[in-house]
This record gives sequence, C-alpha cells and structure tokens, in this order.
Amino acid sequence: MFTTSFWPAAAAYQVSMMDLDAPENLSPKALQTIHYCLRLTEAINQLEAACESRLLDALREEMSIQCFRLAPLFDDPDTRRGLFLRAEMLADDSCGKKVLPQIAGLNEQQLVLGIGNTSTWVGKSRQSFYSSWFGEPAPVLQEVSDVMDSLFPESLLYLQKEIAADLLAMPGCAYKIINLFGIAGEANTYPKHFAYFFPEDEGLKYSPVKRTVVFANTYQQLFELFSRTEAARMGWTEGMLPDSQVCQRYLIAWFRGHDLGHSLVRNENVFPALSKIDRWGSMMVQEALADQFGLLMCLTPQVAAGLQLDRIVLARIYFLEMLRYLRRGPLSYPDAGAAWIQFNYLREHGCIDLSAETLDFHPDLFYPQMADLTRLMSEELLSGDAQRAQAFMLQYCPHNHPEDVDILMARLGTTNDMIEYNQLIKRVPL
Ligand SMILES: [Zn+2]
Repeated sequence: MFTTSFWPAAAAYQVSMMDLDAPENLSPKALQTIHYCLRLTEAINQLEAACESRLLDALREEMSIQCFRLAPLFDDPDTRRGLFLRAEMLADDSCGKKVLPQIAGLNEQQLVLGIGNTSTWVGKSRQSFYSSWFGEPAPVLQEVSDVMDSLFPESLLYLQKEIAADLLAMPGCAYKIINLFGIAGEANTYPKHFAYFFPEDEGLKYSPVKRTVVFANTYQQLFELFSRTEAARMGWTEGMLPDSQVCQRYLIAWFRGHDLGHSLVRNENVFPALSKIDRWGSMMVQEALADQFGLLMCLTPQVAAGLQLDRIVLARIYFLEMLRYLRRGPLSYPDAGAAWIQFNYLREHGCIDLSAETLDFHPDLFYPQMADLTRLMSEELLSGDAQRAQAFMLQYCPHNHPEDVDILMARLGTTNDMIEYNQLIKRVPL
C-alpha cells in the first residue's frame, strides 16, 4: 500500500495552489449541504480504509439523504433528477447497472456531481475508493465541444481522406464540461485529474450510455502553470501563445477530438486483442491514436473555420501539452507513453530539435509528420494484424525501451508538479 497520497513516487514535489471558487448562483443552503457532503466523503473514505462497520453504513445512508435534500434546491429538471438518481444509487449500490447509465444520459444545467466509489488512477490500478466532486456546467466551453460533435461527420470524412478510407466510428460517448468547485476523497488525491469517464470510473465497464466529465478549470490551470511556464523556459515570447481563455478553447476542441478519436477503428475494434498481448502498450497506442485523430479533426476545414482555430497556435499548444505529458513520466501513465511515441517520431523527423541545452519546435513540419505518424499507426495497429501491431509496440512504446526513457528523461526532467485545491466552499459554515 502507498504510504503517501502523492504518486508517482519522487524525492520532492512542487505543489501549486489552485482556488476553487464557491459558485455564486447556488443558494446558501445548497452550498452548505455540499460542503457537508465533502466532509462526509472524507470521513467515509478514511473509515473504509480502516474497517467495515455499522457506522460506515450509517454515514453512507446519510450521504443519500443529503442528495435527496439537495434536489429540491434546484430548478433545472436534469439537476434534480441527477440528485434523486444519485440518492437512489447511494441508498442501494446494487442498482448501479440501472441508475448509472441514466445519470450518464443527463444534461444538467445547474449542478453536475459524482459521489461514491471512484477509480483511482494510480498505476492504472483497478481499485476504487470513496470520492465526491461537484461542478457547475461551463456553457461557453460546452459550445466548443458541441461544435466538434456536430461537425464529427465532416471530421470523419476528412480523416478518411487523409488517413485511411475505411475508418469508421463506433458509438461514442457524451461530453460534459464543468468548472469544479468541490472535491473530496480519492478524486482529491494526487496528481489531480481533469477528466473522468462514467460510468466506467464508477466500476460499470459496459454501459449503453457513457459520458466524459471534464473539469475545465483544472485543465486550464494545468496548462497555465506547467505548459505556459515551459514555453517561457524555451524562450518563446509572450505573443507566441494567446491568452488563457483562448488557449482553453483550443484545449477543449482538441480534447473533445481526442475523446471522439477513441471511437475510431477500421473494420473492427482490435484493441481488446492487443490488450491481451501487451496491456500497457495497447493503452499507450490507443491514447496516441486518439490524440492524433483529435488533432487532425481540428484541421477539418469546417471545424477550423467554425472555431477559428489557427494552425500554428494549435501546433504550439499541442506541442507544449505533449511535453507536459511526457515529463510526467512515460512509464507511469499511458498518456505520457503516448506523448513519448509522438515526441520521438517528431524528433527523428526533424520537427523537434533537442540538444544538451536547447529544445526547438518547428511548427511548419508538424502537421505533415503527425499525419504520417497517424497513417503509419492506423496501418500497423488498426488493420487487424496482431503481429504487426505487436511489432509496432515493441519498436515504439517506452516500456520496451526503459534505457532510452532514462536518457531522455534525464535530459528533459520528470516533473513532480502537483496542484492542490483551495476549496473556498469550505468557508461556508456547516
Ligand atoms: Zn484518451
């Protein structure tokens, strides 16, 4: 068992504080109840690790009652319904199969929440622990994501033309963008995550309805704290990146593209078979493909025009995010492994120049090379030939080249930067 809530293990961590503002639109009673639920979550989370007891059952029941009490404090029908369904689920978790897909199908306008056992992200472990999180829908960013959705047919045609004519989309999942304002339990450990996949992260792997919930303010903060800082370190001038809110639009457009990119296959879904050969490798290449499909979707002429995405700005933001992911440690996270695959490909082909002192990025070479890499991966990984897929993973995935990982990470430095939330809702008296 881990002896600290920090992960991955490191000799030192750099912790940056991030304020989570208490929303102004919620009633004092609602804020007070949510504050209470956060405290209750911590108690349940701590007690569950120690023992199973009647006290725990009583606390879990209390949480259900609080959701029932919260529901009438909201006017929006889906927010109310979400609270009633959550209360039902907390009162009897055997009804998850019925209730969780209904929650994933909601479109709340006032409050989005999750309470209950949630996946830990530590080492892709399958364990889950008690958590809760609360957020307000973010309508302006939701619109960016909705544009990506509405233009997905055009994006698919674009990818069929650019990458593989037989690409097809499996059923995808909905996307809900919120600003987080309260979080407790496992979901509030380290590192902070800005996206959860429901109901999978609540333990229901197969669901007819799914949705990704994105904490937009956390995502923005990660970019601002770490990616923008990295840009300054590389000597980029301020004018090379737009302001924070514009960057946030790019990030959401690409990240929704990434999510949609997970649904793209050729002929059939080959990943369950690849997972049996090499689970880590399969997760990494899936993340890399989703990243790349998401990026290329942003180049679809209708998307770029509709969301006013500048190619050079997008390339720079993507590069910085790739670097941020990579520096988290390519052996610790599948998405960092995905960044490893892309970074090394771009480096081999001259888009990235890395010397002992300098790191240079050439945006003009970026798109042709990312398209080449995507065609290569689509051919090697998605064509249904397990041996070719395995050969690709052996050649490109970091866990098959630990000595190369050591060398590159010694040069780039593994980041141990963490966010800690300052939750202003905790000032609301109980
Ligand atoms: Zn992904």
